[in-house]
Parts: sequence; structure tokens; C-alpha cells
Amino acid sequence: MRTTADILQHYESIRSDQESFYRDLHEHPELSHQEERTADGVSKRLSAWGFTVHTGIGGTGVVGVLQNGEGSTVLLRADMDALPIREATGADYASTVEAVASDGTSTPVMHACGHDVHVACLLGAARLLAEHRDAWQGTVIALFQPAEETGDGARGMLTDGLAAQIPNPDVALAQHVLPGRSGTVGTRMGPVLSSADSVRITVYGRGGHGSMPQNTVDPVVLAALIVVRLQTIVSREVAPTDPAVLTVGSIRAGAKSNIIPDDAVLELNLRTYTEATRTQMLAAIERTVRGECIASGSPKEPEIEIYDSFPLTENDESVTARVADAFSAHFGDHAGELDLQTASEDFSDVPRALGIPYTYWGSSLPQARGWAGRGIERVRR
Ligand code: ZN
Repeated sequence: MRTTADILQHYESIRSDQESFYRDLHEHPELSHQEERTADGVSKRLSAWGFTVHTGIGGTGVVGVLQNGEGSTVLLRADMDALPIREATGADYASTVEAVASDGTSTPVMHACGHDVHVACLLGAARLLAEHRDAWQGTVIALFQPAEETGDGARGMLTDGLAAQIPNPDVALAQHVLPGRSGTVGTRMGPVLSSADSVRITVYGRGGHGSMPQNTVDPVVLAALIVVRLQTIVSREVAPTDPAVLTVGSIRAGAKSNIIPDDAVLELNLRTYTEATRTQMLAAIERTVRGECIASGSPKEPEIEIYDSFPLTENDESVTARVADAFSAHFGDHAGELDLQTASEDFSDVPRALGIPYTYWGSSLPQARGWAGRGIERVRR
């Protein structure tokens, strides 16, 4: 029987392989739903280590299953996609990749959210588990998910029959790199990442010449009033003890200074930590928009469309306690509590659909660029 110390010594010997694979991934980032090269590299390695590999799940998703006798079945998840951002780090393995986005435009691509780190970490764990089967028992499922950034990669794997291709896990674990003190890990019980929803609202006026506003219903003024009124949802309707965010990130109307347009389009993003608050805020947004349209004499009902929804990530208490204890035992004072994050993730779609508990933790590595990429991505959209 090998000891943990033996396994860690072995880890030192695979470290350079792992790092060169990480650098290769970083240099060759792929956009959401386009992770073919990454998935290929992952599946070849898993196969070589003796995993039963399923590819092409939900597009480019890969799952490796390693059965090793009686015991628990544990699902470990990493996401694989990169962001439409030009890299400016100056690293000698920086990305110069350009790709065609889903809207047909060409864009630079960068692993700015650290999913290359996640893939390299999970492969490292998979290899250690495969090469030390005498040190554990049970089944490990290594799940490499596409399209986390677009929020539909986990759902895509589920609707493509993920559950039928794997033994039902007892627990699911995932991590994200975050900005923070290098070499630390943090766990958190209960809500850890917010749910997120984007909302597109089209309001209708009656266009006309800017010199004769009396003959029009001005959708620019209507949209402006909606923006102001929406600010009262978090400040006046949500309890101060319940964190929530509502941002109007885009407002578009008209093309010329002296023409009153026919309509205006607003795009909102909200973040919440309970389903009740999410439902409450979505209802308040709809009520506010419809009310302002009536007040302005809008000639047509507004259109309200919810898109890019991410689920709430809410860590199971007993699973999180067990992982936190293991981290403390191994990492000592480099393990601690993770702050509540206002970012969002679709990882929990998988354990929620499979009916199993999960935990999601944050780690800070020297290469980590944390959530900055997500912020940039939102601006770009
Ligand atoms: Zn990410």
C-alpha cells in the first residue's frame, strides 16, 4: 500500500508534464462549443491511463470513468472553454489564436478565466488516481465540460444523455481558480456563487420628428425612466440582508438627434443567492416595465426575454465540511473560507439533475487570472 507521501512524490515527477500540457492549452484556447482540440488531448490522456472514455457528449464534452472496486462514486468536473479576448499578458506561451464566434465574427481568444488550469488540474488528479489504484477504492468520474462561459455546456451534456453513460455518482466536486494569495484554497457552505439571469426588454413608443414630441410616445424617455425605476428594486424591495445585483448593461434606441424612434431595447443582468429572491426580482422587473409603459402611453405591450441563465451554486454542508477538513489537514493555514462570490457557474446543473450533493471551491494559483475574464466578456457582448 502506498502512502500519501509516495503519491505526492510521484506528483512531483509528473509535474513538468502537467505544466507543459497547461502551457499548450493556454496557447491554444478554444471558444465555447468549439473545444475539439482540448477534448482530443483530454480523451487521449484519459484513455492512456486506463479510463473508459466517452467523447462528444453535448458537443465536445468528455467523460472518463475509472472503476476500482467497491466504494463511493465521485464525479470531478473541469470546464474547458476560453473567452473572446485578446491576450496581453506577454507570457511566452500567450495565445495569438483568432476564431470565428457563434455570430460569425472573427475574434481573438484567450484562456482568461483559467479553464486551462482546471483541465490541467483535473488531468493531474486523474493520472495520480489511475497510477495509484492500490491507495483507494471506488469509482472516479472525470468530467470535462464544454461551454461554461455561455451557461449551456452542462445542460447540453445532460440533454445528450450524460446520465446513461456514467455510473450514478454519490457526490460531485468542482473548483475555480480565483484571485487571491498564491497557493491557497477556500471552501464555503451554502450559497457560494450567485445565480445569474440576463433580461432583454423591448419597449415600444410612437416615433416622429423631434420638433413635434406632442405627436409621439418617446421610447427614449420611457427607457430612461425604466432604468431609474429599476434601481429601486434592490434598494427598496429586497431585504438589506439578502445580497442582490441588478445592472442595466445596455440601452439602445434611435439613430439621429432629431428623430424620436419607435422602440428602445434594454439589456439587464441580475445576480441573486436564493430562488425566492430571483423570482421576486424577475417579477418586480416585469411589473416595473409594464407600469412605466402604461404611464408613458406605450401603444404596444413590451417584450421581456430571459436568456443566459446560470443556476445558483449552493454547497452541501456535509460534503463541504468533509472537503474543508481534508484541505485543512493537507494544506494547513493555506486552506480557509471562501468569500461569497457574485460570479456564476453552470456546474451545479449536473449534480442537481443527478440528484446528488456537491461542493465547489476556489483556489489561487500563481497563473490564475480569476473572474476578470467574465467581466470583460460581459462588456463585449
Ligand atoms: Zn470560469
